[in-house]
Amino acid sequence: PLLLSLKLAIAVLVIACPCALGLATPTALLVGTGMGAKQGILLRGGDALEKIHKLDTVIFDKTGTLTTGKPTVTDIVSVDEKWSSDDVLQLAITVEQGTQHPIAYAIQQAAIHRSLQALPATDFFTQSGFGAMATINQHIIRVGSEKWLKEHSITLSSQGKEQLQLFSEKGKTVVFISRNQEVVGLIAVQDKLRPDASQTVQRLKGMGMRVMMLTGDNATAAQSIAQQLQLSEEDYRVEVKPTEKAEILAQLQAQGHIVAMVGDGINDAPALAEASVGISLHSGTDIAIETAEIVLMREQLQDVVGSIHLAQNVFVKIRQNLAWALAYNAIGIPIAAGILFPSTGILLPPSAAGALMAFSSVSVVANSLLLTNSDTATHTALK
Ligand code: ADP
Ligand code: MG
Repeated sequence: PLLLSLKLAIAVLVIACPCALGLATPTALLVGTGMGAKQGILLRGGDALEKIHKLDTVIFDKTGTLTTGKPTVTDIVSVDEKWSSDDVLQLAITVEQGTQHPIAYAIQQAAIHRSLQALPATDFFTQSGFGAMATINQHIIRVGSEKWLKEHSITLSSQGKEQLQLFSEKGKTVVFISRNQEVVGLIAVQDKLRPDASQTVQRLKGMGMRVMMLTGDNATAAQSIAQQLQLSEEDYRVEVKPTEKAEILAQLQAQGHIVAMVGDGINDAPALAEASVGISLHSGTDIAIETAEIVLMREQLQDVVGSIHLAQNVFVKIRQNLAWALAYNAIGIPIAAGILFPSTGILLPPSAAGALMAFSSVSVVANSLLLTNSDTATHTALK
């Protein structure tokens, strides 16, 4: 009886070793993050996957995220005959040199195109989400949104307002150039929607998510984009300051929503940090990439959908693994303890218990590796 109880005790100990349970979650996460990396979805830690699979709201930034972030200058208007359009552009390029914003990029390209050089300037300052300024020849030059100029009591003439309306209706973004308290001219830039933006928004909606857009741009320009994406009035906010983006996210999350923020700019960083899941594009600014938990290396918005599919697949795997490991213990431990011995004489020798234990771990790992298949399936479905 001593030997029998010893054998049973060893078999129980071996079977009860929680190897498979311990492996269930990390192996699935490991395979999942590896699969993500292969598809260009970089995940910072497994908890990103955990949160993304519970998402119910996805918020996009407009400029540089829904749009390509490579706008081109379409119009340069000077408000006074004493300034030529080249003068306006030259002031703008001087202020915007070294600024990391899609609009600054467009202005820099236009200046290269017209072979314009920056003027000597000092006191450079960028107000994220509003514009940039510098001192040229002891004049304070600003390049930024109407809202920003208004905040500094620089008002537009009625002609300026008309032009703002006209360009905005075409979906262009307008920035004004001011010298001290006087408006010098305006530059209109046009950005294109990313080719997969509309499809991504529709797919997310099809998955039952609420899709929203937050932008620092004005209402008319935002409306034109919202229409193309079939976003209704309550699903986008305009002239949002960087801190307000984070506040809107915090509010939604306080209402119990799990919210992802997709953004690219310095102005999106607070919101990316606030979001349950921050997602940034590879072309984003360093601070956006640094703050985000998921970085989309392929520059494709549809990878937002890909990340959600991936997270869902990983969670199915984790559940399967846990169920298998639990079932294995629930059945294995009583048998190892000798439940069948009195009636049938069946005993589980410690060696068999060891083999079974190894088998359970191997099966959990193998099941996790099967994720590779399911994920390739999602991947092709996306294409
Ligand atoms: P979004 O939220 O759509 O990405 P931003 O918050 O980056 O837009 O910018 C909001 C608005 O502020 C722009 O439409 C532009 O008018 C102005 N702005 C921001 N940064 C700059 C800049 N560097 N130069 C000129 N204008 C800028
Ligand atoms: Mg942006």
